[in-house]
Amino acid sequence: INFMIEPIQKLTHMSTQFQEGITGFQRFMEIMNMKPAIESNPNAVTLQKVHGEIEFNQVSFRYDDHLDNVLKHLSIQIQPGEYVALVGPSGAGKTTLCSLIPRFYDVTDGDVLLDGINVRDMDLMSLRKSIGIVQQDVFLFTGTVMENIRYGNPAASEEEIIAAAKHANAHDFIMNLPQGYYSEIGQRGVKLSGGQKQRLSIARVFLKNPPVLILDEATSALDNESESVVKQSLESLARGRTTIVIAHRLSTIRNAERIIVLTEDGVVEQGTHDSLLARSGPYARLYSKQFEIQV
Ligand code: ADP
Ligand code: MG
Repeated sequence: INFMIEPIQKLTHMSTQFQEGITGFQRFMEIMNMKPAIESNPNAVTLQKVHGEIEFNQVSFRYDDHLDNVLKHLSIQIQPGEYVALVGPSGAGKTTLCSLIPRFYDVTDGDVLLDGINVRDMDLMSLRKSIGIVQQDVFLFTGTVMENIRYGNPAASEEEIIAAAKHANAHDFIMNLPQGYYSEIGQRGVKLSGGQKQRLSIARVFLKNPPVLILDEATSALDNESESVVKQSLESLARGRTTIVIAHRLSTIRNAERIIVLTEDGVVEQGTHDSLLARSGPYARLYSKQFEIQV
């Protein structure tokens, strides 16, 4: 629902194949190849190799038709390969902040830099190619399992698709479907569980192999059992990539190299789980409230 306004305009540019079987408007944001309202600047640079250093420099952001800034003078630096958890109350702007990296929206003020280069100066396709996103709702279209995974990299071979599915812990359940990788998904095809859909979306990102990964509440809709399998897949996906994870669950946050606490006042605290708990500040309060655990 967060991303509703822009994608409706973009819908008209999409092929009918993609219009079928879409689960929510948010999922349009996953469609990186559609005609962007945000365009590459004519002198845009294409980075040959992205290391995944991310910097928000005094970033403010306001949605077009809104008066108030969602993000105000926010500065965050993330090192290549770092695993960072972004936590904070609902509505604090966590999803919005992450949507500025692939330029789903442009900042109102300040700069977002990838490897020291302003994302506004980067070729949009190559920028978005370097970022993988796993969200709560999975966007699947009518077509085979194979086609749905290939979406992560249209040039991939079947061998590469199967390897990606194996990495995502999806191969075994796919092989148990009536037609394996050629099973149809959708109205007249197989019905997949939430955890299975999520593993297909993870397989896509393995196939895409981006240096930057955004995991936005990727496991929040899953029951405990499917969550643990999906979490393993996500952990292996995150290896070697700059990862920003937005999560509620303690198990996901606790392992982060750094936890950034974002509230409506901006970044109010940063540190490891233990160091933040010891401070008895906003994180400790959020933690005891959201996770209903006494500290
Ligand atoms: P979080 O992910 O931390 O829950 P969001 O980034 O989704 O927070 O939302 C931050 C604020 O921006 C909220 O007040 C939300 O209502 C508003 N918002 C989110 N998406 C949009 C949008 N597409 N248009 C207008 N306002 C939005
Ligand atoms: Mg959110």
